[in-house]
Amino acid sequence: CGIVAYVGPKDAAPILLEGLQRLEYRGYDSAGVVVSNKGLKMRKVKGRVADLAAAVPARFKGTVGIGHTRWATHGVPSDVNAHPHLSNDERVAVVHNGIIENADELRAKLEADGAVFLSETDTEVLAHLIARTVKETDSLEEAVRLALKRVVGTYGIAVLDAERPGEVVVARNGSPIVLGIGEKEMFAASDVAALVRYTRQVVHLEDGELAVLRADGFNTFASDARETAKEPLTVDWEA
Ligand code: GLU
Repeated sequence: CGIVAYVGPKDAAPILLEGLQRLEYRGYDSAGVVVSNKGLKMRKVKGRVADLAAAVPARFKGTVGIGHTRWATHGVPSDVNAHPHLSNDERVAVVHNGIIENADELRAKLEADGAVFLSETDTEVLAHLIARTVKETDSLEEAVRLALKRVVGTYGIAVLDAERPGEVVVARNGSPIVLGIGEKEMFAASDVAALVRYTRQVVHLEDGELAVLRADGFNTFASDARETAKEPLTVDWEA
């Protein structure tokens, strides 16, 4: 349902929680955040963003992170089915809007390959797929691109790799992702409403596009890995 991502010099969690609050109007049943700081730290709960905020400890430090509000399509609303979803080695975290149509088939293959699924969601296949690929490619961008080639369905996703604490990868196909350009910080969200408090400079991804966000900027790529050139737009919006 809702996605927020941050990479920059500040603590990510308060920014992610504030962004998720701004997406509440869309409706949701659970919420979660993950930040990276020498390993991933995650909290997720069935219920409101306020319940999530109460569950996030004061020492939840990390200057890169992703957050999600879930509207369940596959699996009941629960703490475990809430996003983010992690790979078994806890290296990769994924949040996802949309529906992976071939999730059952991918899940069976991943389980045969040793993946242990913790949730009932279609989304969790993405965490296991990307974690397997990132070990081979040593590039999160490449790993996400290759994993998405195996997926049939709709997605807006944001992905963290604990071994690349300076970047977030986002991608879209049939579910919106917008980048927010800050001063030495980058944001992304499923809806510009989550960004306007922080920046008015935005870039909308097209279906099939993927973006790598770093504190000092971003790059966008088409599904064939060629870099795309994007002109930022200035949004005019009462925050
Ligand atoms: N299909 C995913 C799930 O059920 C994502 C739902 C959403 O878009 O929030 O967990």
